[in-house]
Amino acid sequence: MDTDFRSHGLWGKTAHAAPLTPSLQQDLNTDVVVVGGGYTGLSAALHLAEAGREPVLLEAAQIGFGASGRNVGLVNAGMWMKPDDICLAMGKQQGERFISLLGAAPAIVFSLIEKHNIQCEASHIGTLHCAPDASGLADLRERERQWLQRGADVVLLGEKETVRTTGSRMFNSALLDRRAGTIQPLAYARGLATAAINAGARLFTSTATTGIVQSNTGYVIETPHATVRAKKVIVATNTYSMGACSSLAGPLTTMPYFNFATAPLRADLRETVLPQGHGAWDTRKVLTSFRMDAEGRLVFGSIGALRGLERPIHHAWATRMLAKIFPQLSGTAFESEWYGKVGVTKTSLPFLYRLAPGMLSIAGYNGRGIAPGTVFGRLLANMTLDRVEDADLPLPVSTAPEATRFRNLRSLYVAGGACAVHAVQGLR
Ligand SMILES: Cc1cc2nc3c(=O)[nH]c(=O)nc-3n(C[C@H](O)[C@H](O)[C@H](O)COP(=O)(O)OP(=O)(O)OC[C@H]3O[C@@H](n4cnc5c(N)ncnc54)[C@H](O)[C@@H]3O)c2cc1C
Repeated sequence: MDTDFRSHGLWGKTAHAAPLTPSLQQDLNTDVVVVGGGYTGLSAALHLAEAGREPVLLEAAQIGFGASGRNVGLVNAGMWMKPDDICLAMGKQQGERFISLLGAAPAIVFSLIEKHNIQCEASHIGTLHCAPDASGLADLRERERQWLQRGADVVLLGEKETVRTTGSRMFNSALLDRRAGTIQPLAYARGLATAAINAGARLFTSTATTGIVQSNTGYVIETPHATVRAKKVIVATNTYSMGACSSLAGPLTTMPYFNFATAPLRADLRETVLPQGHGAWDTRKVLTSFRMDAEGRLVFGSIGALRGLERPIHHAWATRMLAKIFPQLSGTAFESEWYGKVGVTKTSLPFLYRLAPGMLSIAGYNGRGIAPGTVFGRLLANMTLDRVEDADLPLPVSTAPEATRFRNLRSLYVAGGACAVHAVQGLR
């Protein structure tokens, strides 16, 4: 994968190999070009190919190079925003459509994994949203109420059950969401790529899109060595947008997020930490997430970038916080570390774009992109196939990304704020 060992960390070490994909060297003609080889682009390519089209996918680096190969692997239902707040922001009808699509999205991820036999450490036993204090408990009670109203399979665990399922005395309660689960994220991306190829999609890597030019018959997509003529284009470059697609990242504030992973834990310790293997995170604003991989490594993360002077602050925090949450792991060293960019929107909801006739895009999953990326990739494919009416869409459509003012300053503020919180917590 990337030469920087902090790009994909543990996932780069343990994922099965990516399918062999060439870079584009010859001009091509096709019906649809998909730009970007993360979950959104791969799911779009897979669903287009399954519908009998021959999509061409162009990825600037490697499959899963962006957020899809670096995340925590929590396959969650819904966004961070509570369902009622989504309805307030989008209106009841579209809001409920969006909520029900994303509520069912983890099931779609796990069924794709099964259908295409994707080896990605899939575990569909639910996730735990954990409360360390009274305000966290109030938040979880409200989330449980709103989801139960919509028939979701969630339950708020009391203190005893929370201690038993997390292996930690730090939390007074946890919302168990049985719709959710965990995966090895890079392996899932690579598996989607194989499934798309098997269905008839053509994937090209190390092939940056350098220009997208409208023509009489559709679009000419330019890359360093060749062009592709296509009737329609899906731009799925999201927070990692670069080159000809960089304006897509304009409305996104970048929130860095890091992970550290231990070596496989000793069997006796392994039984005491997340014993059933749930993925988990807490209700704090500068949150902590923790999950096991298939070999019993604990993956432990939070907001922040592992670069320059920030890295020692986050490393010291992680060492200390690990011992606080799981005293039985005091002194356990980390073996891998990596970080990536989360794209945050001002509305906390993704932006769906019709950039020009026949050119669609979506961006800004606000740190919830495994299940949403999969179902929105499928949605973009269906829109491209003219199978969805605008009146039935789960999101409003806009025409152009509006650059957020002071985007870089906001991104620095988020990274700096997380550093300050970790510096203080790391001392306590
Ligand atoms: C550290 C971290 C932790 C996260 N944890 C979770 C989690 O636990 N659960 C969850 O649901 N979500 C999580 N997320 C969010 C989730 O990973 C993303 O929302 C999701 O992967 C986005 O997928 P995507 O396909 O839209 O974009 P990406 O995976 O970023 O893919 C975009 C691709 O486009 C390519 N590209 C860019 N420009 C060009 C160009 N000009 N030409 C060709 N290719 C180009 C990039 O190289 C990249 O591979 C996390 C994100 C991060 C960074």
